[in-house]
Amino acid sequence: MPDDWQRALAVVAHPDDLEYGCSGAIAGWTDGGREVAYLLATRGEAGIDGLEPAKCAPLREREQIASAAEVGVSTVEFLDHQDGVIEYGLGLRRDIAAAIRRHRPELLITLNHRDTWGGVAWNTPDHVAVGRATLDAAADAGNRWIFPELVEQGLEPWDGVRWVAIAGSSSPTHAVDATAGFERAVRSLLAHRAYIEALTDEDPETYVRTFLTGTGKRAAEQFRGEFAVTFEVFSR
Ligand SMILES: [Zn+2]
Repeated sequence: MPDDWQRALAVVAHPDDLEYGCSGAIAGWTDGGREVAYLLATRGEAGIDGLEPAKCAPLREREQIASAAEVGVSTVEFLDHQDGVIEYGLGLRRDIAAAIRRHRPELLITLNHRDTWGGVAWNTPDHVAVGRATLDAAADAGNRWIFPELVEQGLEPWDGVRWVAIAGSSSPTHAVDATAGFERAVRSLLAHRAYIEALTDEDPETYVRTFLTGTGKRAAEQFRGEFAVTFEVFSR
């Protein structure tokens, strides 16, 4: 995994998207003094069947902020696209490009933008839209003449994104050792407690440890036996 960078911006659709694996890598990066900021396209307000969106949004926002803090991330921003029906398009690309210009990252992180998780497990349209828009916005952010209204708002182009790393890809190209960050990854996913309690009847900590151990071990099968977090990395 490239390590000659100082700032990363992680852009995902929902609270919890970064915690199903990726946050173990983020813990290691912030340990090393790197700056990582989160940008969430929604507040995850459609994520709990028994809780109406107006009540769910502030709850999941709080859980996401607590979750980020577990892995050393204190900047968490929300775009207020609508959970479940995020549209890929110019509005989404513009919002992400604006965030890239504000944060000036060398590394962008997002979640699987492909139709499936590999095999027959279908991905959600929100992940596909945000993942693709993030890949596209890496270039949009660097071009003064794309979204010129951003320059009028004082957001000068930032053409410094060198990589876009896709978490949860079924075709990973890179991996980060997840051993040091594992316990914090567990705590970061557990911070989404209301969501997990609505999702499963299992004990939340058992559910979280089982899930994260499984992904780490699958990575080990592909990357020299090391317990890891994997990424598909696109270079620019
Ligand atoms: Zn999601």
